[in-house]
Order: sequence, then C-alpha cells, then structure tokens
Amino acid sequence: MSEYHELHCTECKAAIFLEEENYKRRLSDGKIFFCPNGHEQVFREPTERKLQKQIDYLHQHVEALEEENKYLHHAINGYKGQLGKLKKKIKALEELHHDARVL
Ligand SMILES: [Zn+2]
Repeated sequence: MSEYHELHCTECKAAIFLEEENYKRRLSDGKIFFCPNGHEQVFREPTERKLQKQIDYLHQHVEALEEENKYLHHAINGYKGQLGKLKKKIKALEELHHDARVL
C-alpha cells in the first residue's frame, strides 16, 4: 500500500490525502489540486521552478560577464596600441634630444 500525505485545505481546512507520488509531483511541478470541497490548492514556488529561476539568473550573469570580458579585451588592445605609439614617440624624442646635445 502506498503512503499518503495528509494536508489541509487553506480555505475550509478539510483534510486532503495525496498519494506519495502525486504529492512529490505537485511539489515539483506546482500544478493545482483540489480539496474535497473543490477549493484550489497549490504548493508555492516548487523546487523545480525555483532552481530553474536560479539557473536562468546565472546564465544571464555569465552572459553579462562574457560581454564585459570582451569589452575589456578590446580596451586592453586599444591601450597596448597607444602604449606602443607613445614608446615610439619617446624614443624619437630621446634621439632628437641626444642629437641636439651632440651638435
Ligand atoms: Zn477546501
């Protein structure tokens, strides 16, 4: 014989007996069920939905980080280019300064 979970209607307090399998299913899928007097019952924020929300949030977070990473790589490359140009300018100025002293 299967086990039953005894719950009570949130409106009329009537006893509701859910078979173990149905109990677990309603807990994870969040679908409605009824008390003997026809009142709708539902488990709030079922585990599956809660986990799916967290997964979605983390996916979005990872995507945002990947975008930021791309942007930063682009910026770093830009700075490297500027640095290279400045080094060349400094070198040219140093040579000019050296030449001026020699003259
Ligand atoms: Zn009821």
